[in-house]
Amino acid sequence: MASDLVCWKCGAPFGDIPMPLARAAQCKSCRAALHCCRQCDFYDTSVANACREPVAEEVQDKTRSNFCGYFRPKVDAYIEPDMQPAAKARAELDALFGLIVPGGNAGQARTPEEEARAKLNELFKK
Ligand SMILES: [Zn+2]
Repeated sequence: MASDLVCWKCGAPFGDIPMPLARAAQCKSCRAALHCCRQCDFYDTSVANACREPVAEEVQDKTRSNFCGYFRPKVDAYIEPDMQPAAKARAELDALFGLIVPGGNAGQARTPEEEARAKLNELFKK
C-alpha cells in the first residue's frame, strides 16, 4: 500500500504517488528521489554495497534515483535522527549552570566551584 510508505529523507507520507514507483518519483515534501537505495527494502549499511540483494548492481549514490530492477519500496524507510547525546548533555549542563550563575556577590572572590557549593548548600538547607 502506497499510503503506508514515507519518504526516506523527511518522513512525509507518499500519499497518492502512483505505484509501482516511477524512477523519477519525488517526495512531494522535500523533492528527494524516492526510487533510490535509501528508500529500498534491500538497503542495509551492514552489507556489501549496502544492498541485501546480491545480484543487484552496485549503486554509487544511495540517495539518487536508480535503475535498479530489484527496487522494492520499504515501509518505514524514514529513520528519525537520534536525539543527539552531546546536545542533550549540554542542555542539561546549561540548566545546571543557569542554577549556579553567580548572583549579586560582587567583590567576593569565589571560585566557580565554591560558588556552586554555596548554592548547593543553600538548596539543601531548605
Ligand atoms: Zn521527503
